[in-house]
Amino acid sequence: MQKILDEIAANALKATDLGKVADYIPELAKVDPKQFAISIATADGGLFSAGDCDTPFSIQSISKVFVLALALGKVGDALWKRVGREPSGLSFDSVLLLERENGVPRNPFINAGALVTTDTFLNCSTPREALGALLRFVRAASDRDDIHIDESVAHSELDTAHRNFALAHYLASHRNLTNTPEHVLGTYCHQCAIEMTTVQLALAGRILLDAEGLPSLLSHQRKRRINALMMTCGHYDGSGDFAFEVGLPGKSGVGGGILVIAPGRASIAVWSPGLNAYGNSKRGTEAMAELARKTGWSVFG
Ligand code: GLU
Repeated sequence: MQKILDEIAANALKATDLGKVADYIPELAKVDPKQFAISIATADGGLFSAGDCDTPFSIQSISKVFVLALALGKVGDALWKRVGREPSGLSFDSVLLLERENGVPRNPFINAGALVTTDTFLNCSTPREALGALLRFVRAASDRDDIHIDESVAHSELDTAHRNFALAHYLASHRNLTNTPEHVLGTYCHQCAIEMTTVQLALAGRILLDAEGLPSLLSHQRKRRINALMMTCGHYDGSGDFAFEVGLPGKSGVGGGILVIAPGRASIAVWSPGLNAYGNSKRGTEAMAELARKTGWSVFG
């Protein structure tokens, strides 16, 4: 496994096209695109890494997976009355479908759907309490205490979150938001600004693996369902391509991270800040395709 990761990191460093770092969140535009890291936490307790695996990065939309797990823990299947489970085929922050489908977002991983899950998780607590519970959950999942929120990234996003505010107000106009748009967006931008290394993220992802002896924070059925949503919706309108090239469920973030699950085998975190045309990590996607080829891991046999 270590040899495979070293080869993947060496190939990533050879790439001339690094993709484009997200710049609509000003703080993210400052990140050096040359960085690359990959970590694998295997179901039998192994941990392997290559590259800048101790450098924390902004997990952004990968946080939607953890918040979805917590929202389902709060309200169970009632969540699906407020958000769908279908791929959107549109960009992550699109307002188009929301208007056509009367304020019920297509899935919990596009921004509109994530605002509904954040609203559900927030429930009647304050944003501070909810964020505290989220951090405790992620720290317990990874068994690492040094996981924090980067306030400068959170505020940088909040100051420029015009589209996300538009989505939140649209949801509110359809009575699909119970907290104020300000509270939901404040919580959402802070959850996206959680910083983790690939080591921490790969370890946290083990909650989505079904394997003996791992921290059991989610039921078997919940893991299967979250993995199914990651497979069909985890890469926005690039989800089909990712399934085709990699064949494993994954969730990307505009910070350049991707969390991928090889069910029963391993949780994998890859990070490279430059994005492809879909807004998913370019070298991260390429690295995952190489890993899937070299290991033979795929949910399709
Ligand atoms: N915080 C980002 C946003 O809402 C998350 C998007 C992403 O990571 O894909 O714009």
